[in-house]
Parts: sequence; C-alpha cells; structure tokens
Amino acid sequence: MTFRLSPRRGADSITIKEPYELAIMRKAGRRLAEVVALVKEAVKVGVTTAELDALAEEAVLERDSQPAFKGYRVGHLVFPATLCTSINEQVVHGIPNQRRLEPGDILSVDVGLVFGGYYADMAFTAVAGEVTPEVAQFLEVTRESLYQGIALAVPGNRIGDIGHAVQSHVEPHGYGIIRDYVGHGIGRQLHEPPSIPNFGKPHRGSLIKAGMCFAIEPMTSLGHHRTKVLKDGWTVITADRSLAGHFEHTIAVTPRGPEILTVLEGGVSPA
Ligand code: MG
Repeated sequence: MTFRLSPRRGADSITIKEPYELAIMRKAGRRLAEVVALVKEAVKVGVTTAELDALAEEAVLERDSQPAFKGYRVGHLVFPATLCTSINEQVVHGIPNQRRLEPGDILSVDVGLVFGGYYADMAFTAVAGEVTPEVAQFLEVTRESLYQGIALAVPGNRIGDIGHAVQSHVEPHGYGIIRDYVGHGIGRQLHEPPSIPNFGKPHRGSLIKAGMCFAIEPMTSLGHHRTKVLKDGWTVITADRSLAGHFEHTIAVTPRGPEILTVLEGGVSPA
C-alpha cells in the first residue's frame, strides 16, 4: 500500500532493524511472496477482484499472518479488503468487487501482511489476456524501474538517489511518474519514515544506512501523472484516465547492499 506524500513527514526517525528483526521480516516477506504467486496465477479473464481477494486472505491466514490493509484507517475511512485491486486507469487503493476481468485489462494488485509483528508489502501489475505491445512495454519499463531504484538502496546513498533512478528510467519513455503517492519505510508499522518518492535528485534526502527497511514502489502512468481520488475515498485514478502501472518490493538495506525480502525460496520474485 502506498503512502500519501506528506511534506511534514520527518526524516530523522527511520528505524534501524536488529538482525533478529530482519530475520522475522525475511519470513514475513517470504510468506507475502507466496501469497503474491498464488494471486498472480489466478489473474485471468473472467475472474472477479473479490474472488482474488478471498484467495489472498485465505493464503495470508494459512501462513500465520494477518492482512495488513484490511481495517487500515485513514481518518474516518477503513479499508475493507486484503488486496488493493486497481484496474486500468486506477493507480492504487482500488477496492475488490464483483467486476470480472475482461481481455486486455491490466490489474494492479497490492497486498501486505503482518507476521510476528512485522510488515511486508508488495505489488505488481498483471494483464488479463492479451495487451498491445505498447502496454506490455509500459509495464515492463515500470517493473524495471523498481529494480533500478532498489539497486541504489545501499549504505551511504540517500533517499533521493532511489527516486532519481526510478524517474531516470521511466520518464525518457514518455511515461508519467506518479507524484502524489510514494514508497515508505516499513517494519513494526506498515508506513514508517521515510517517504520514498519515485522522483528526486541524486545525493538529496535522508542518508541510507544498513538495517533500514523500505517499501519501494514505482507508480507510473501511460499519460500525465496527475491523479484524482474516486468518491469511495480510496481509489486513486489518473486524472486523464490513462493506464497506470505499479510494482513494489519490501527490501532491507544490508552492509553488502539491498536484499529483497518479498521473494520466494531461492530469492526468486513471484512478479
Ligand atoms: Mg507500500
């Protein structure tokens, strides 16, 4: 799940995880990757997002974990589901419902869980049936940008280096980088400092140190990056109704560089 960009969010309270905490976060990340693999496999023409949500919730509970988003509060709003399911022009925070996926739909799935008191958060955009080469390339570039950003999450770099890497990969293709929602620190809370924008200047922002854990999550648009929120108070769409993409991993910064936590056994990403 993403975090609404807040300029007041301080940069001085980024938690550093102890080795025992990282061990739990690895387990949380593995469990979430398994859930993502199951959901991704089930994304097909004809399935409803509510069916995907039910599948995900069962898979989370089977893994001694709790859904992270169900019951999540922002002001008076309470998110009602395990998954955020965002179709086509929906960027993030879509609510699962009875709509069936149609050929050519793209679906962004965002899912989080808490295991042993620690959170993991992950997202991917999948396609139902066939999409045009233009759409396929848009999603591939978005996915690549996540790894470009992760690669710079090393001790001694700064948060701005991550966003700059994402932005530098995406914008030359003419795609938009969503500004209003950003990645975030993660650990005992779903959303911890710092905010991690998908744009920025190199060598700016908070210093990255070993033991920090981040949810890095590029959100992109095939058109302009401006967004709107639907009347349900949650669903974020592109203002120009252009298609949106979203990929996310939870990572830990180690002395040797970034370690992706949301991976299957053997370090393989499910999405
Ligand atoms: Mg997130």
